[in-house]
Amino acid sequence: MTNIEDEAWQDLVGIGADPPIRRDKCEQCKRPVVVCWCPALPSPPEAVASQIVILQHPAEEKRSLRTALMLQLGLEPGKCVVYKGKRFPNLKHPAELQRILESPQTLLLYPSRDSVPLEEVDRSAGPYTLLLIDGTWPQAKAIYASSPALHRLRQVKLIAVGISDYIIRTQPTEGCLSTLETAAQCLAVLESRPELRQTLVRPLHTLCKYQLDNGAVEHQSKEFLLKNNQYPKPIGKRLSRLLNYSNTVCGGGLEKDSNT
Ligand SMILES: [Zn+2]
Repeated sequence: MTNIEDEAWQDLVGIGADPPIRRDKCEQCKRPVVVCWCPALPSPPEAVASQIVILQHPAEEKRSLRTALMLQLGLEPGKCVVYKGKRFPNLKHPAELQRILESPQTLLLYPSRDSVPLEEVDRSAGPYTLLLIDGTWPQAKAIYASSPALHRLRQVKLIAVGISDYIIRTQPTEGCLSTLETAAQCLAVLESRPELRQTLVRPLHTLCKYQLDNGAVEHQSKEFLLKNNQYPKPIGKRLSRLLNYSNTVCGGGLEKDSNT
């Protein structure tokens, strides 16, 4: 072999025989296998008597980390159902939703003046179907305003809300939880199984940990940043008032017909 041939040969053997690594997707969560959170799901899925129904704003699916799917996969089939729309019910929704909206066993999680703490609901009269509105707070208010069927439901709120574990996404206010965390907390109360909260949010922790390990910035909530003068935008009077009015939006106490 000449020197040139020898060099060419050396170049050839330097090329790996394996094909380039494909980003295989997990069948279940549809995420690339390296970031799949399925191993963090409860196995087998949790059996619960209550049912969670998520009324999801169409924009939420794109925006969120799809935590509704974590809940669906963490519970036995049929225990978490998602309906999409800006108004409930609409013509595209199945008759099943209408039945849910008319059932006396259905509760709506919504922090209105009339809502009662979930902890005070008579559990012996269950099981209940709990409706959650999935979207930003303005989206949730808009859905509520344009869905008269929701106004007739018994309304409940969560009293004991902790600061969100959902640290990747900036929270609008302390005490605002992701839909998954909210649902897990509600189920823990309704099923009288405190451990459910941790069990069901584990996939979210796995996802957050992966993202933090890979350079995502841990966000402080806007409320925290504003209180500590670290939020870059000057804030308006109304927002400032809102922040001073403690335990406002998600903790409960917001007036039902508030037009803010
Ligand atoms: Zn997966």
